[in-house]
Amino acid sequence: MSDSSSSDSESDSETTTDTTTTPPIDTTSQYTDKTFKDLGLAPALCTSCEELGWKTASLIQAQAIPYALEGRDIIGLAETGSGKTAAFALPMLHSLLLTPRRMFGLCLTPTRELAFQINEQFEAIGGSVGVKTVTIVGGIDMMQQAIALARKPHVIIATPGRLVDHLENTKGFSLRTIGELVLDEADRMLSMDFEEELNRILDVIPRTGCRTSLFSATMTSKVQKLQRASLKNPGK
Ligand code: AMP
Repeated sequence: MSDSSSSDSESDSETTTDTTTTPPIDTTSQYTDKTFKDLGLAPALCTSCEELGWKTASLIQAQAIPYALEGRDIIGLAETGSGKTAAFALPMLHSLLLTPRRMFGLCLTPTRELAFQINEQFEAIGGSVGVKTVTIVGGIDMMQQAIALARKPHVIIATPGRLVDHLENTKGFSLRTIGELVLDEADRMLSMDFEEELNRILDVIPRTGCRTSLFSATMTSKVQKLQRASLKNPGK
């Protein structure tokens, strides 16, 4: 994947008037008969999925990916094991393949372990198409991470606390080019008291032109508040 400008914005979700109120996507680990090609994903990504031995899409993938490819925000009720990581990684990689942009994707997740797992899936699916990712979590040298951020990866996978640390202390680092945001395990992030950090991050991400997906195992009142603050007319 080559370098390119970072200011492109294809989202039209601000002007979307569809007000369908279907219930949130509810998933188990079950699979559908939909192939990744059926969902409209780029051939290179379909090949990556085949190489991983993924024959058909899981329920959350079959439900979320078509909305995402339309540029819609997403809210998904999904647990670990449902295939939710690929449900947000595949559309982000698809978008990057169409228009490569540095510092384009941001995935926020509550723990270091989850961040590393997400990074592994991005590399497994997107490594062959040249996507560059960086994982920003606590417990690792700030300077080393600052250097990785200065190289301008396509996707940042981060825990909220350490990302805010970089926003405050890393010269030249900003999130103003982010075009896709994922809030993974939103209920856990909020129960771990990351609300303030999430608000700090949401404040510096472009309001227009950024597509947001929120995934949560449960729908709590705090998640609903975050949903209202971050999503525009989401596909559910
Ligand atoms: P996740 O729910 O994202 O933690 O994914 C759980 C596991 O399912 C991961 O190990 C993925 O590699 C695997 N996986 C994701 N999507 C598929 C699929 N469509 N078919 C088979 N395995 C999958």
